[in-house]
Amino acid sequence: MQLTYNDRDYDIVIDKKRGQKNTYIRVKKDLKVTVTTGILTSDRFIEKLIRDNYDRICKMIDFQEVKYKNNNGFFYLGKQYVLIHTNNESISFQGDKVYVGNDFNIDNWYKKQAKKIFLERLDYNYDRFTRKIPYPKLRIRKMTSRWGVCNVRTHVITLNLELIKRDISYLDYVIIHEMSHLIHGDHSTAFWKLVEDNMPNYKKYREEMKEF
Ligand SMILES: [Zn+2]
Repeated sequence: MQLTYNDRDYDIVIDKKRGQKNTYIRVKKDLKVTVTTGILTSDRFIEKLIRDNYDRICKMIDFQEVKYKNNNGFFYLGKQYVLIHTNNESISFQGDKVYVGNDFNIDNWYKKQAKKIFLERLDYNYDRFTRKIPYPKLRIRKMTSRWGVCNVRTHVITLNLELIKRDISYLDYVIIHEMSHLIHGDHSTAFWKLVEDNMPNYKKYREEMKEF
């Protein structure tokens, strides 16, 4: 089964599960339309369901297409590069191209850049922060569901390594967000006011980050 949208065919995967009572339609990261349903659901029922929900499914495809574009390819500080493999063991940039050796460890390189740049931005934002807070200890980790974490007790701020791929503004937003937690542990109005004092247009960045 396939679904056609914008002159493109999207595969429909039907996942029949024992004991599954309801039927769900999702568009996954790989842009496959997945229908989760019970074993006894007929193909006719599924076909009708897809027809009835066509507009909604197309919206889900649009959303995942944006995410897909934002996550596939070589990104560094908000810029996308065309990745070209070479035989030497280094990395070099030329215009919109990045030349990367076949044995070059890109993740380690990202980590090295992040250590330098995240600390620079932490210092920059710390010096300008409107409230007096303890100087945070910085940790960098790959995380799947969060951009940053703040341990209010130990003053450790953990930043997601993935931020190195995005524009500096998003990194600044996450740093300011986590530093604000050193004053307000929750997401109260007072917390958001403090974030806004330090980054008046933070809402724009917060919204845009949902597309990553
Ligand atoms: Zn928070």
